[in-house]
Amino acid sequence: MDDPKKKILVVATGNAHKLREIAEIFPAYEVISQKQAGFSGEAEETGKTFAENALIKAETACRALGLPVLADDSGICVSALGGAPGIYSARYAGEHGNDKKNRALLLKNLENASDRAAYFECAAALAFPGGETLVATGRTYGSILTEERGEGGFGYDPVFFSDDLQKSFGEAAAAEKNAVSHRFRALTALKELAGGDMA
Ligand code: IMP
Repeated sequence: MDDPKKKILVVATGNAHKLREIAEIFPAYEVISQKQAGFSGEAEETGKTFAENALIKAETACRALGLPVLADDSGICVSALGGAPGIYSARYAGEHGNDKKNRALLLKNLENASDRAAYFECAAALAFPGGETLVATGRTYGSILTEERGEGGFGYDPVFFSDDLQKSFGEAAAAEKNAVSHRFRALTALKELAGGDMA
């Protein structure tokens, strides 16, 4: 059962997978979605960087709820494509959140590329009702495979070969991936920045 003494941390997402990962990193908090907290709006991600978009999401929900809110924004950046798809990762092939089409387009655009270096980046932002904000970023490095490998994870996981794990994120168990992921690194850096407040 949830500990009634725990402080609440609202996360600006509806993604259950992210909520679970965040709850593991912030065990002192009861982590809930912005919808559970009473905010169903959606912030327009008009930023030009992961950090700007994470801040927009956190500040929008924080203003609406009057509670501290954590948000993240992430994507994959490919060297041979000048950093694309970057902040447009979720809608690379045009349709928001169509992971299969996004992966197919990425493989097609890298068909003849010998440089296949890539990294995932995540920005995590915390917004407080007093106006204070904190932002931290994390990356995980690897390369884009020539075909999909593994069926685990989501998004670009099956086409991303991780330098840390020496296998694709699609082949990795969730716990293995979470230990080296861009999101884990951004969230632990954010926790460090917040210091004793979030321990
Ligand atoms: P968002 O931060 O949830 O908006 O994620 C943006 C997009 O980046 C997702 O739709 C995925 O395509 C991609 N992405 C972000 N993190 C990951 C990951 O850990 N694995 C695979 N794809 C990811």
